[in-house]
Amino acid sequence: MRKKIIAGNWKMNKTPKEALELVKILKDKVDTDKSDVVFCVPFVDIIPVAEALKDTNIAVGAQNMCFEDSGAYTGEISADMLLDIGVKYVIIGHSERRQYFNETDKNVNKKVLKAIEKGLTPIVCVGETLEQREKCVTVDFVRIQVKSALKDVTAEQAGNIVIAYEPIWAIGTGVTATSEQAEEVCSAIRKVIAEIYDLDTADKIRIQYGGSVNGSNAGELFGMSDIDGGLVGGASLKEDFINIVNYQE
Ligand code: PEP
Repeated sequence: MRKKIIAGNWKMNKTPKEALELVKILKDKVDTDKSDVVFCVPFVDIIPVAEALKDTNIAVGAQNMCFEDSGAYTGEISADMLLDIGVKYVIIGHSERRQYFNETDKNVNKKVLKAIEKGLTPIVCVGETLEQREKCVTVDFVRIQVKSALKDVTAEQAGNIVIAYEPIWAIGTGVTATSEQAEEVCSAIRKVIAEIYDLDTADKIRIQYGGSVNGSNAGELFGMSDIDGGLVGGASLKEDFINIVNYQE
């Protein structure tokens, strides 16, 4: 039985001071028994947030990292730096990074491999545009993204990562995929994992849905058999995140 994992992606929001105010509101109210809970915060918020969460079971995540170990990569943050300040998870290949910062499938794969090598759990984001959905190529496209993100990843490693299916048309738009639409693609992702590796790995890997999740739709989405929780943007910055984590099916 896979434990659900619900991660908040704070994106470029909250100064360290504001981050601590939000953590104070959320930290004692989210149920970490039913689901693993992760706050993926901006880099500068990681140290204070990790300190504020140290007596809880909520993990801290980053939203990006470099695929190199160290050196002349101005502006980048390495896996070792993240590990040293208590980070456990890292979002890789979010559609906003693909769209605005030229993140390619190849870079995503390099980052996934580096995160795994260092002991960080990648939350690998995949998902189609509205145009692709309308052309009925969603599953084909997402299969390619998954295969390319996991190139050279072993079955054992793959079983421990998290994949977030995030249709781009649903991110930050208030338009949520229906539970059937989300389940169809999450199930196709599990199928491609079984094809690349084996059924055991497909059964282990956790697949989140992301895209305008809120306290009212979380229960139905997370109740689908191939949806193992969510990656939550806008609503992770509000008290509604408590309703999402403490969802009822
Ligand atoms: C996200 O940023 O990953 C996301 C899903 O955003 P939102 O929940 O705001 O759609």
